[in-house]
Amino acid sequence: MSSNKKKFLLEGKTKKIYTTDNKNEIIIHYKNNITALNGLKNKSIQDKGMINNAITTLIFKFLNSCKVPTHFIRKINPIEQLCYKVNMFPLEFIVRNIVYGSMSKRLGIKEGIIINHPIFEIFYKNDALNDPLINNHHAVFLDIISYKELNIIHNISSNVNTLLKEYFLNKNIILVDFKIEFGKYKNNKILLSDEISPDTCRLWDKKTMKKLDKDIFRKNGDDIMDIYMEVLKRIG
Ligand code: 5GP
Repeated sequence: MSSNKKKFLLEGKTKKIYTTDNKNEIIIHYKNNITALNGLKNKSIQDKGMINNAITTLIFKFLNSCKVPTHFIRKINPIEQLCYKVNMFPLEFIVRNIVYGSMSKRLGIKEGIIINHPIFEIFYKNDALNDPLINNHHAVFLDIISYKELNIIHNISSNVNTLLKEYFLNKNIILVDFKIEFGKYKNNKILLSDEISPDTCRLWDKKTMKKLDKDIFRKNGDDIMDIYMEVLKRIG
């Protein structure tokens, strides 16, 4: 049994983490902040934490029901969820179905081109280095992760992409690309962790191709709450 006796552990740009009196579980608190450009752009928006917690909860519940190994246990209240405590790899795993964003800039390829075989990328989470793109060999050389673990993560990411592409398509949303993160649970089992929301995915309306994600904020800082609410309404 887990209890709600919580103690502050750490704070990131958009979340706070608390320990519980069960050493294997943590509470993730979704803040109202939205950030871009590695935190250079940072704004607080009313109810944003509540909506992202709700969206992430729905998606992780769906993935749990598909037997994807995740950290998610349950939503506790509108802005908090109970999760397994993992040791996070300082890596971001990106899966791309359509060329956009940094891939388009890096390779000089037009945005919007469909990628038939999903592309997987790894970014090293390091603010001082501005989160560089790395490959498997760099990650192993940096002593962050093993080849075996990378292989497990690759398989989970591929499965998550297949599942979420269809999940969103059923709501008339195209999953363009997304970022996921992983951690290691006490028994060394690798669990999909962090959040999956319009903050971490590119989502386009299937009919109009209208953006339903954080790109709206990245590009012009507009209020994104109507758009995030729209995503929640469609998947809820
Ligand atoms: P890109 O590399 O094109 O900027 O981003 C690819 C995908 O990963 C997009 O869906 C984007 O939202 C997500 N992504 C990449 N880096 C980050 C990050 O640092 N934070 C968040 N929340 N999402 C990211």
